[in-house]
Amino acid sequence: MSYILLHRDNLHSNLDLLSKKVGGIEKIFAVLKDNAYGHGLEIFAKEIANYGVKRAVVRDIDEASKIKNLFQEILILSEKDEQIKPDSKFIFTVNSIKSLKNTPKKTTIALKIDTGMHRNGIAIDELDRACKLISDNGLNLHSIFTHFRASDELGSEFFWQKQNFLSIKTKYNELKHKYNLKNTFFHSCSSSALLRTKGFDDDFARIGIAMYGYDTLPNSFDKSPLKPVLELFAQKISQRHIKVGERVGYGGVYRADKEHISSLYDVGYGDGLFRYVKNGDLTTTNGSKILGKTSMDSISIQSDLEEISIFNDTTLWAKQFNTIVYDILVKLSPKIKREFI
Ligand SMILES: *Cc1c(COP(=O)(O)O)cnc(C)c1O
Repeated sequence: MSYILLHRDNLHSNLDLLSKKVGGIEKIFAVLKDNAYGHGLEIFAKEIANYGVKRAVVRDIDEASKIKNLFQEILILSEKDEQIKPDSKFIFTVNSIKSLKNTPKKTTIALKIDTGMHRNGIAIDELDRACKLISDNGLNLHSIFTHFRASDELGSEFFWQKQNFLSIKTKYNELKHKYNLKNTFFHSCSSSALLRTKGFDDDFARIGIAMYGYDTLPNSFDKSPLKPVLELFAQKISQRHIKVGERVGYGGVYRADKEHISSLYDVGYGDGLFRYVKNGDLTTTNGSKILGKTSMDSISIQSDLEEISIFNDTTLWAKQFNTIVYDILVKLSPKIKREFI
């Protein structure tokens, strides 16, 4: 069976680097949404909790419940209003004035501000109204946060949003007196924003892809020595000799121009691997060619190894499929067995 190895040393090295950058592991909210970006929610959560991570971010209550006893606080990004109820560990993201009104008293919330991404969050000029509602409805405001739309791109947009977030910090510090609210925490950085930041000064950072080992900033930035954690392996089902002129797989897109060995391995697009349909320009970790189209449960590779590492860094695959490394990782089926080494 295909399987995933998670490299503990690499994870620890990434967490060492990141906690140094923010000034302590307690400032990291580790983003574990969507099955920990394909790494396996529970196994990954246990590992980082052992390392000392205290805070996690997930998508919904279902994910949060699975890892509840491992962390002090869990930020839930997108639960439906009707499901929200007070909980000693859960922090619910509130994205609109309407949701603020719907949130039950005493619920701990994180208020999301739209500083320019225009995806969700309350508008900057709604902050006064939001603070009044938080006060009137007896909500417990854990933090105020935002998300950058272009933190991994060169250019001024990142700074424009940062400036908007700064103005929110100042404004809240006035409003808290007006509405008798407590001090609150602020966080804005995801991985790429943190990696380009010198002199981190928020209370927390929400870190996903960098913890998994990827620096997604363009090459014009200084690169951080992060190390990918996940490696995908497949096992040999069978092996054959391909003669000159023979074609391999659906549609026969691959044609051998010299004699060689081809083996079939037990991972396919049914396991969440992207479906390769071209000829000869995608290779495995050791440089072996992938031969022809990917099948649902299998893939032909020019190799005779019993087991083969399909990838230990998804950068090449992301490029091949014109997507981002997140997309290659997150699609890996939860059914594949995962193990730390
Ligand atoms: C997914 C997500 C993150 C983490 O982003 P990375 O680029 O993986 O670090 C942070 N904040 C929010 C709101 C997110 O949705």
